[in-house]
Amino acid sequence: MLQQTQVRTVIPYFKNFIKEIPNLKVLSNTKEKKVLKLWEGLGYYARAKNLHKTSKILTQEHEGKIPNNFEALKKLPGIGDYTANALLALIYNQPRIGLDGNVKRVLSRLFNKKVEKVEIIFKTKRNGDFAEALMEFGALICKSKDPRCFECKMKKICSYYLSEEKIKFKKKKNYQLKSYDIFCYLKKNKKQIALTKNNSLGFLKNFNLPKIEKTSKNNKNWKFLCNFKNSISNKKLKINLYYKFSSKIPSKYNWYSLNKNSDFIPTFTKKIFKEISYLYQ
Ligand code: SF4
Repeated sequence: MLQQTQVRTVIPYFKNFIKEIPNLKVLSNTKEKKVLKLWEGLGYYARAKNLHKTSKILTQEHEGKIPNNFEALKKLPGIGDYTANALLALIYNQPRIGLDGNVKRVLSRLFNKKVEKVEIIFKTKRNGDFAEALMEFGALICKSKDPRCFECKMKKICSYYLSEEKIKFKKKKNYQLKSYDIFCYLKKNKKQIALTKNNSLGFLKNFNLPKIEKTSKNNKNWKFLCNFKNSISNKKLKINLYYKFSSKIPSKYNWYSLNKNSDFIPTFTKKIFKEISYLYQ
């Protein structure tokens, strides 16, 4: 649930999910439709589907246990290097580290050289705590901007702190942030979406895109599906996607099949199609 989503947003969904589906066995016996229903509003339905598929594989092939080796974990739906390493460290206390941006930065500073992968295996009695502490340390102390060296317990051994010539990190571009809401009308029993050829979204003008309106989050009929981030030159775009099932669509709109894979449909719109398709499964 926490992939691409803030803790604050996840908490009520997580509590409700756990209340309804308290363990792996129950999850593996739950209908996918119910899992997706409980996920409704969190978006990125691929996560829910992968979680559900994984629960079935774990109960059928792994006696309901999470595998304790990297290769087996990587075969599970939705689990990549980062998650596999984090699970092995946190569950099995293995000397592994989930390398995200924060952790890479902390290690790069400690050694005052760019660290892209972990060549050194750290061994402590508490490898899981160590992996978790590194993530927290990067978020709270060795922050990307203005690291808090003055209170850092590592400064006596930190090469970045001690060195005259400090490693330089690439500066982030000064992006202009723009946020858009896209509202998609969907047909209930057919995989179809209402599209128009003209819209006011300047950066994708004249493309077939779902209907766009001003944010109306108070309108309970629109449900949040997910958001996409995209960068175009010096603009950073955040697209919030909402949907509702409706048989009526505004004029100048036509129904299009979500299975349509024409070259005329831009990649971005295809991404939206893919996310929406999960609602019909
Ligand atoms: S001394 Fe500063 S740069 Fe080094 S690890 Fe601590 S916070 Fe990061």
